Amino acid sequence: MELGGAETGVAHGGREGPPGTGGGRNARRGARPPASPVAPPPPTATPQRPPDAPRPATPRPPAHPRPTPAESALLLQRLRGHGLLGISALRLTRNRSTLVSYRGGTLRVHEGFARAPEEVLRAIAVFVTARGTARAAARRLIVSHPLERDATPRPPRRTPLHPDDRVMAERLQRAHARLNLVCFGGALRVVHVTVSRRMKSRLGHYAPARSHPEGAEIAISRRHIKRHGWTEAFDTLLHEMVHQWQEENGHPIDHGPLFRQKAHEVGTTPRAKRTLR
Ligand SMILES: [Zn+2]
Repeated sequence: MELGGAETGVAHGGREGPPGTGGGRNARRGARPPASPVAPPPPTATPQRPPDAPRPATPRPPAHPRPTPAESALLLQRLRGHGLLGISALRLTRNRSTLVSYRGGTLRVHEGFARAPEEVLRAIAVFVTARGTARAAARRLIVSHPLERDATPRPPRRTPLHPDDRVMAERLQRAHARLNLVCFGGALRVVHVTVSRRMKSRLGHYAPARSHPEGAEIAISRRHIKRHGWTEAFDTLLHEMVHQWQEENGHPIDHGPLFRQKAHEVGTTPRAKRTLR
């Protein structure tokens, strides 16, 4: 059984930005939310990265030492401690499109999990052993675990900030801190908030930590701020923060029922469509 790694990378309808990097808020609001791209695979299927999933970077020599055979053996032992059954061998891989898979008693796990916390290891054991909702919950937890960035380094992918936009970006960064306190009880992590001049049709974008080597990022369209003003821009920021909340709590990043519930709770509602042209 396999676990595709693209669950947090749900592509939205915007035209700008790399595909599959997270929750973008499109100017064309009111569109149907995309379905989760990860369906439970059949037992013998070979997992393929969905076409809209983030592409892995070209392999590079590791900056971080690869886990040793002793660490692999220890990992198998720890997984068994969490109830893993029917697995006689464990192989650590660098395949980012398949985080966890097993066949014929051999379990393949991305090496980024070698030093994962116990709750993530328990999720791997459950994923391999259980069925149904427990397995689905385990998949979400596994996918939400950030792979060790220095194990497979990738180039930075921060949205470039125009020097003239620094004051705007700082204002958004402060708004993030304020909204975090007011709407989320301060539970969200501090993430990089910036202004994008490339977003022409989209209002904002959340790039999840898992696909972003420097941590998660929220970008708000400069055009959106200029055209609709700060009240609207802060509302878009709040929308992206709901996506941040989704990722940090192991939920898929989408506009499904959980998103709508949380959005309503914090006071941002998807509104009628609007064009940025
Ligand atoms: Zn969104």
